[in-house]
Amino acid sequence: MTPDQTAELICSKLEENGYRGIVLPIEHVAQLKHEIEECNSQGKIDAELYDKYLTYFEFDITTSLPRACSIIITAAPQPQRKITFHLNGHTYLVIIPPTYYADTDNQIRNMLQDILNSNDYQLYPAALPLKLLAVYSGMAKYGKNNIAYVEGLGSFVRLKAFLSDMSTGRSDSLEPRVMKECDRCKACLNECPTRAIVPDRFLIHAERCITFLNEGREEFPGWVDSAWHNSLIGCMKCQLVCPVNKRFIKWVEEGEDFNEAETQLILNGVPLDRVPPETAHKLNRCYMLEYLDVLPRNLRALLE
Ligand code: SF4
Ligand code: SF4
Repeated sequence: MTPDQTAELICSKLEENGYRGIVLPIEHVAQLKHEIEECNSQGKIDAELYDKYLTYFEFDITTSLPRACSIIITAAPQPQRKITFHLNGHTYLVIIPPTYYADTDNQIRNMLQDILNSNDYQLYPAALPLKLLAVYSGMAKYGKNNIAYVEGLGSFVRLKAFLSDMSTGRSDSLEPRVMKECDRCKACLNECPTRAIVPDRFLIHAERCITFLNEGREEFPGWVDSAWHNSLIGCMKCQLVCPVNKRFIKWVEEGEDFNEAETQLILNGVPLDRVPPETAHKLNRCYMLEYLDVLPRNLRALLE
């Protein structure tokens, strides 16, 4: 099988399983790096946000992994998850947005690995800006809220990227696109409680976005109204009012149930080495272990 045929097989196998995928030559990593650096040099990206999120990526792939010559970007449909907490005799239902659940990562990785290995190629992990990759590759389009929307899946997706030594893919210059639905719509702009989405520029003020604030370790700024919190982590407000997501907004699956003792333990910020194994399993199953240190603040904000 030629590399192009292998890439085609990858994309069709992903589609068959309800996923999406696209293969790009590795040269496009330089374009992504340039885009981010240009935005940063023009002062369009908040310094703290740049340090926290954008310096984490590994763009220098030709040095760290000289064999890599293509990027495989995938999207998997994901529902919201409803997590239950119990406190003082009350039950609280709390949402975790679609992107945090990573159940599909292993399935996709195994699928890609099988196809690549049987054609004498290797699959490697990638630390690249997923949303940017998805929209630059054409697999997704930007919404006015700067969220990536995949055709037929809306923004209820989990994106993932991998590297491979399979030499293939389009090498034409890439252009990000904005959804045509945004032309006559302001629903997300009107709904955003923090005014992170503004009419006079395309890039949202990500440093005002609730997702940036509640994934971060600092206390919430004084200007954040407690009524704005809506998810255990992240924020669903602009996605739930978006007409493109109409088919998906009621797609909520049952998640973990934390009893009174476990809820109290999370609120108290008990460190992982003192969390009982069963509770740690539950946190792991809802992909919240890595956010354990922000959960007390986030959960308290929701329960208030
Ligand atoms: S709510 Fe409207 S403007 Fe915002 S992303 Fe969706 S379609 Fe675009
Ligand atoms: S995720 Fe929430 S805070 Fe961020 S832009 Fe959307 S509505 Fe605004």
